[in-house]
Amino acid sequence: MPAQPIVGLHHVTAIASDPQANLDFYTQVLGLRFVKRTVNFDDPGTYHFYFGDDIGSPGTILTFFPWPRVGRGSAGAGEVTHTAFSIPLASIAYWEQRLTAKRITFQRSPRRFNEELLTFADPAGMQIELVAHAESGAVHAPRFSDVPAEHAIRGFFGVTMLHIEATETAHILAVMGFHKIAEEGNRLRFAAPNQTPALGNHIDIVVDPRAATGRPGAGSVHHIAFRAANDESQLEWRAEITQHLPATEVLDREYFHSIYFREPGGVLFELATDNPGFAIDEPLESLGERLCLPPWLEARRPGLEQRLPAITLHKGEAEGLNSPDPHASCELFRAGVPLEKAVGVVILLHGRGGPARDILTLSRALASDSLPLAFLAPEAEGMAWYPNSFLADRDQNQPFLDSALARVQSVVDLALAAGIPRERIVLAGFSQGACLATEFLATHPARYAGLIAWTGGLIGPPGSDLSHPGNLAGTPALFASSDPDAWVPWPRVQESAKILTAMGADVTLRSYPGKPHSVSGEEIELARHLIHHAFDALPSTA
Ligand code: ZN
Repeated sequence: MPAQPIVGLHHVTAIASDPQANLDFYTQVLGLRFVKRTVNFDDPGTYHFYFGDDIGSPGTILTFFPWPRVGRGSAGAGEVTHTAFSIPLASIAYWEQRLTAKRITFQRSPRRFNEELLTFADPAGMQIELVAHAESGAVHAPRFSDVPAEHAIRGFFGVTMLHIEATETAHILAVMGFHKIAEEGNRLRFAAPNQTPALGNHIDIVVDPRAATGRPGAGSVHHIAFRAANDESQLEWRAEITQHLPATEVLDREYFHSIYFREPGGVLFELATDNPGFAIDEPLESLGERLCLPPWLEARRPGLEQRLPAITLHKGEAEGLNSPDPHASCELFRAGVPLEKAVGVVILLHGRGGPARDILTLSRALASDSLPLAFLAPEAEGMAWYPNSFLADRDQNQPFLDSALARVQSVVDLALAAGIPRERIVLAGFSQGACLATEFLATHPARYAGLIAWTGGLIGPPGSDLSHPGNLAGTPALFASSDPDAWVPWPRVQESAKILTAMGADVTLRSYPGKPHSVSGEEIELARHLIHHAFDALPSTA
């Protein structure tokens, strides 16, 4: 076996349709760098796009042939069905929020092996996974991306191939130094042995004897390329592989040198060298900004530039979630009576994933004919008030947390402007919204009509000082929570109740062993009781 191993994927090449949609998705949604704008060397009238990390490192490169008129492909046996990127374990919430804000439908899948993952389709229908795992490693964060470096895509995690049976593919993978390291259901995982975690070193085969054959087209993976350390190693590996399969001669791909061979299951494999890399024909600072052509096509540049569809590369544009005040203009949903006819206001703050109209359905249970209330529910930008757990360092949830608190203040101000005093405003929320409501009351202390925290508590890391100065002057506060709860530890709820009691709140604390993470009928009844009692105790406004 050659001295230098194949350590994982070098690049993945897929078929796209609309070039601009492809460019926008990978740079503006996934935050990758556009590292090369060139043409398909075998069909120079069409583009070849390369995306990757800031310097176009091997193991980060996803490339596309955008063919505007190609039909959609359908994934099937003998194909790569999913391409997975690696993200840090702590970044899953950030990506959920970002994809939601970008209106990308995604699925959060049950744990696979030891990883959390999000699955979604790109504009051409290609199935992409973001895999959050502990060994995600360092990153050359793309310089024009608005994804914070700590959450940036690291490069490939791996790929999933679908096969009717795996024996022969497993054999050729073994020839290449990849051995089965794990198995879960009908998913087999192969990896090359390596000292440190390598990018793209998870080659999964899902075995389904009844799988139909796929149809190539937009969204299909064209081939996957593995990494050869250098030209010499590539030739050694070629000698090894050609004992089992036919392979091409070495081809000059300008940015790397390649051999190709089709594995027995039907997927086209490539072995590509790390060198010379993407800075060979343009400066690192301006990768992707102009059309790069290999020397033998340079003479045809004017004709090619005219023929290729015009595209615009957007760099570093801040919008929505990137603003310093992301929730400032988030939408406000209303239910109940209009503010000018209300004797009181209930501000309802939804949990992560929202939407506001879901929590607003509680208005029917909380109001009554004898108590005309206005219900106001702001909807968080990206459906989450802050990206990380409420137990994380507060800095990790900024600027979202401060923006969310400011948004609650602006809704309070709206009620105040309508002539409804704080003593007639109830702050209520579920889960993340309950944490936000509690945090708002503690950091803006005054006599409110009440606080309803369904499964939530004060925000901050365990062991930190959560106390706040100020006087709540008898504000009724309900803490009702499941115990245990997957997101909100019961001791934090107890601690929050204690702190608010010390601030002068009139606290009711209820735990429900084994209750699901939702608002139960009994918790709604407790809230209804709190609200009616709070308004009974006040002088009539009739
Ligand atoms: Zn390739």
